[in-house]
Amino acid sequence: MSGARGRRPRRVTVLGATGSIGRSTLAVIAEHPGRFEIEALTARTNTAELARLARRHRARLAVIADPSRYRELREALAGSGIETGAGKEALVEAAERPAEFVMAAIVGAAGLAPTLAAVRRGAIVGLANKECLVSAGPLFMAEVRRHGATLLPVDSEHNAVFQALLGGDPADVEKIVLTASGGPFLHASIEEMAAVTPARATAHPNWRMGAKISVDSATMMNKGFEVIEAHHLFGLPEPAIEVMVHPQSAVHGLVLYRDGSMLAQLGPADMRVPIASTLAWPERMRCGVGRLDLLALGRLEFLPPDPDRFPALATAREALRAGGAAPAVLNAANEVAVQAFLENRIGFLDIARIVADMLGTPLVEMPADSMEEILAVDREARLRTARACEARNPRKLYGTGA
Ligand code: NDP
Repeated sequence: MSGARGRRPRRVTVLGATGSIGRSTLAVIAEHPGRFEIEALTARTNTAELARLARRHRARLAVIADPSRYRELREALAGSGIETGAGKEALVEAAERPAEFVMAAIVGAAGLAPTLAAVRRGAIVGLANKECLVSAGPLFMAEVRRHGATLLPVDSEHNAVFQALLGGDPADVEKIVLTASGGPFLHASIEEMAAVTPARATAHPNWRMGAKISVDSATMMNKGFEVIEAHHLFGLPEPAIEVMVHPQSAVHGLVLYRDGSMLAQLGPADMRVPIASTLAWPERMRCGVGRLDLLALGRLEFLPPDPDRFPALATAREALRAGGAAPAVLNAANEVAVQAFLENRIGFLDIARIVADMLGTPLVEMPADSMEEILAVDREARLRTARACEARNPRKLYGTGA
């Protein structure tokens, strides 16, 4: 019954439990027997891993988003006493179950509805799913305020800024800095980048992440998304959110206060650190990672991002400034283009080009004042982007005829 410091265990739901963030969340939880209980775990298609995790962590409920896998899940959990569910509505129902803490770690706009369900019952939400804030930031934040939910950023840069903001009055903040590792192509020429394969784009030098965010890091669209995410989370105007390339990935974020003080958060490049800080919030707990060895590191470098090789960052900033439907178009177009790249249907540099093209279409004029309108923008942008991807000739990609 009693967890850490004699309290009731904190009940946790993990949306996207089989992913990189989901598994790291459960690994941190496993370090603290008795401190947490698992209410629900969800996945899209990976039934075997979902069932394994549900049994291992004694979840009350396991939900698979793909309804065609439901039977498989039920069979895998037969005799365990764990409830099962399938489909999009079941994901929302999982988020509605009475867990105090919900880790929102589904990738993409698919995470929006279940994350909102957690927000609407006033839960503590660990937000990894940045796409929620990119496509529906103002509406999402309005729901957070209306329902008194607590939003804790899991993204390492935002988690760092969140921590550094505890050191001063938000009214005294002049700007924040989000650091970027620079990804696998920090020093690649544009010619090399044109010929990049999915395997190379997903091999990140410092972080081990899911495929989509790894590609987003390689194009630096991820950093553009993070600027939008920071704008909504911290209420700062776009020019007050600076991006610096920091190849060592030791400093994750900084806050500059009006007296010239800069407060930074440093730590190993391991998502278990920000995950643990949200799970234990407002306390701290160990999470099984080694310490950052500053002496071994020796030096910290900071460089400006290269706008020519990484145009996606400026495209995302433009979408933020434009507002309305533009950020939802940005997100949807990027999801479709990244998937097309991962399936070898377009080239690496096409991703940023196609997304920028979509922001030049009448899609951005669509109304985007309600969740229904945002979802309509999302659907339309996906259709148009899919057509734009088809219009590229895949045979030209690597000269292999693949
Ligand atoms: P992964 O691809 O590793 O995992 C995604 C998870 O979401 C899996 O559990 C997957 O299930 C599930 N999922 C995927 N699509 C759907 C869908 N349509 N409906 C329901 N569930 C779905 O992603 P990451 O863990 O890397 O990233 C998750 C989120 O966290 C992203 O928004 C990312 O931007 C953000 N983030 C990730 C970081 C990282 O280090 N990985 C760092 C900072 C932020 P299945 O396994 O069955 O496919």
